[in-house]
Amino acid sequence: MQKIVSLAKRRGFVFPGSEIYGGLANTWDFGPLGVELVNNVKQLWWHKFVKSRSDIVGISSSILMNPKVWEASGHVAGFSDPLVECKKCHTRHRADHLKEENGNKCPSCGGTEFTEEKQFSGMFKTSIGPAEDETSIVYLRPETAQGMFVNFKNVQQTARLKLPFGIAQIGKSFRNEITPRNFIFRVLEFEQMEIEYFIEEKGWEKHFDTWQKEMENWLADIGINKKNYVIREHDKDELSHYSKKTIDFEYQYPFGQKELYGLAYRTDFDLKAHKLSYEGMVPHVIEPTFGVERTILALLCDAYTEEKDRIVLKLKPALAPYKVAVFPLLANKPELIKKAKKVFDLLKDEFTTVWDARGNIGKRYYSQDEAGTPFCITVDFDSLDNNDVTIRDRDTMKQDRVSIDKLVDILKQKLK
Ligand code: ATP
Repeated sequence: MQKIVSLAKRRGFVFPGSEIYGGLANTWDFGPLGVELVNNVKQLWWHKFVKSRSDIVGISSSILMNPKVWEASGHVAGFSDPLVECKKCHTRHRADHLKEENGNKCPSCGGTEFTEEKQFSGMFKTSIGPAEDETSIVYLRPETAQGMFVNFKNVQQTARLKLPFGIAQIGKSFRNEITPRNFIFRVLEFEQMEIEYFIEEKGWEKHFDTWQKEMENWLADIGINKKNYVIREHDKDELSHYSKKTIDFEYQYPFGQKELYGLAYRTDFDLKAHKLSYEGMVPHVIEPTFGVERTILALLCDAYTEEKDRIVLKLKPALAPYKVAVFPLLANKPELIKKAKKVFDLLKDEFTTVWDARGNIGKRYYSQDEAGTPFCITVDFDSLDNNDVTIRDRDTMKQDRVSIDKLVDILKQKLK
């Protein structure tokens, strides 16, 4: 895991949050490469599940909602985790995690005596306006789902949708986790990509199976190796208060097999709770949910490859932060720089392109391999006479010479 955390920092994927002030535990910032990767994931997801389908539409709802939403949804009463404190070192832990992962031993000091379990609300509270009293309390949403439920009528009527149909949204959620850890796996502030798919009760099993396949296809689309995740169904006593069936997609992270995504049959719990209906009946809901941070972590783990003389991030080209890097062979030859800049200008409007003229060419390849850049273009002395360049393939390290006139088309073809 340490290798992935340090590559993420070294190349500008993920930085510790507020680092110059000693950090703020379990907050992380996406750097220049991280934000490109995140945006590529979100765009691909939006395209697959919203733009290319006629039965799903998107929304973007507020993070702050009327507190009545969270009362109706059951979050105020039920969104809590069991908290215990180690009697020896006074660190706090989630009781269920202690049992599952640590054989009921304190991970900090090895102690075995804990206080009684207390329920700890996972909802972050804040207040609106100058007076901080009971009437001004609002919560930062712990899931994006409720924004889709409360807009059910607005969306259904304006988009004139008929069952079955879905509402999708990508947005921030906040959870006051007791034991956040493992890099960006469990953080306080994260993004979710969620779909609420409204159906008739009859036939929910078929929709559930279809969504399971859709999620498997998505994982294949982004290049996650099938061998590295498993699908696990929740036991009855593990199910959330609203669910009749839930499966988790669990990824084999370096620190163990843990939830990446979830798929839940939420019954008619949510629309009933908000007293919403459609043509005299209350639709049921299938909810596929995808965490952005956990996707990024799984992608980094899956793509991370150590070879004899290099580390390569074998990201799918569609997700790679930079598609192309352009280098002048030597950094101190103005004629090479001039020509290479022309090539850079030619490419930069077509692909996310990066310029690099530091150090020697070997170091530049090394750093682009670590960044996951699929293609490196080098302008050398032959380029000046022949108007051509070399294209180096990240995975095979093979280099081909191609004419600059054909470069854009060739790259488009390769990146398809
Ligand atoms: P866990 O059991 O790991 O706490 P959960 O079952 O509470 O997760 P859900 O409520 O199903 O998670 O949330 C939906 C998705 O949001 C998860 O599958 C995950 O991808 C993401 N997610 C949930 N909590 C966090 C968090 N604290 N940090 C990052 N991502 C999260």
